[in-house]
Amino acid sequence: MNPIHAISFESLCSKEVEELRHNPSHVLPIYATSSFVFESLDQSQSVFTKQEPGYLYSRYANPTIESVAKKIAAMESYDLDEEYHCLLTNSGMSAITLVLSSTLQSGDKILTQSNLYGGTTELLKKVFQRFNIEPVFTDLSNIDAVRRSLDEHPEIAMLYGETPANPSLACIDLTAIAQLCKLNNVLTVIDNTFCTPYLQRPLSVGIDVVIHSTTKALNGHGNAIGGAIVFRKTEYDTYWNTYKLMGLNPSPFDTWLLHNGLKTLIIRMDKACKNAQAIAEHLEQHVSVAKVNYPGLPSHSSFVLAKSQMSQFGTMLSFELQGGIEAGKRFMDNVNLVTHAPTLGDLDTLILHPASSSHLNINREVRIANGITDGLIRMSVGIEKIEDLLEDINKAISNI
Ligand SMILES: *Cc1c(COP(=O)(O)O)cnc(C)c1O
Repeated sequence: MNPIHAISFESLCSKEVEELRHNPSHVLPIYATSSFVFESLDQSQSVFTKQEPGYLYSRYANPTIESVAKKIAAMESYDLDEEYHCLLTNSGMSAITLVLSSTLQSGDKILTQSNLYGGTTELLKKVFQRFNIEPVFTDLSNIDAVRRSLDEHPEIAMLYGETPANPSLACIDLTAIAQLCKLNNVLTVIDNTFCTPYLQRPLSVGIDVVIHSTTKALNGHGNAIGGAIVFRKTEYDTYWNTYKLMGLNPSPFDTWLLHNGLKTLIIRMDKACKNAQAIAEHLEQHVSVAKVNYPGLPSHSSFVLAKSQMSQFGTMLSFELQGGIEAGKRFMDNVNLVTHAPTLGDLDTLILHPASSSHLNINREVRIANGITDGLIRMSVGIEKIEDLLEDINKAISNI
């Protein structure tokens, strides 16, 4: 008798299959499993008590997710001797939630900028403020203003920044911020989503923690939501305990998609940065364009700083047409190759109107003070043929 027939037909159906793996797969497999099997009670006890490495339950750790996390940690800490660790989360927002809820106490304050990603501002105001963790908004690109805020608010336990910021592309000086905060015993956290570790590595200039929305350029294909935090390995238990208890883990499949995207990061970023520079230069000399924000233009206020702390100027730009919001609306309706969609960092070129989408819930005066005028259009530049992009943009402008 075939030994597999020794069990009943019903049990045969419900039983797990034999894993037919004799040598490793070339490409990362997807471990779509919620739990892992123990060989003995002794083994289970030693894995649970961390005396031996092993997997238990996918909310705690999963081989697909951990492999990709290891790669992102290695990328962000590429120039460093100290060991860093990464935890992948189910969104960029949950990566931010993880950092804040792992490190802050009620009564602490967060020093940050008013031109943050819209969702981050809302998270601070609508969620964390209810737990008596208050944001203090200042211009993080002004180191004297940062120093004054730290003096005025001794409760500040964390500085949280984004550079370049969304969508003005204003940059903050990471080295100066890291030094000042270290002196004041303030944890520094940088959202490195716009740059990826290919263009900018905050940890190498002394920033403590990097966060990402991997949904954007790290994945690059717009097919999965995800996030990441990278921190010193010595802090592992602090972050991991919150991670597993809040259940912030991503799905193995989404993580696998992220990994597919990561492999082409370099060629995508090289091409998209080059396209962005060309579009910014083109728009800047166009008679129908009132203003262009791109850190690779000498006219941008952060040009010198961006040149010193980024290896390329990035894939994001924003601009305002002559004719403000009405002209902007018509431009957005006129584009053909360029797509109107509320994300960034994909490999095709996307536009968005921040005042009515990403910054909809931000106070209008605060928004305008940060250069996000009513007619501003944000563009995430992709890897298309530059001549095609310029033709589409020109046509859309001339039909206004
Ligand atoms: C998109 C984005 C986020 C939020 O990430 P999700 O993956 O959408 O949760 C945070 N910061 C920046 C800079 C972003 O662009």
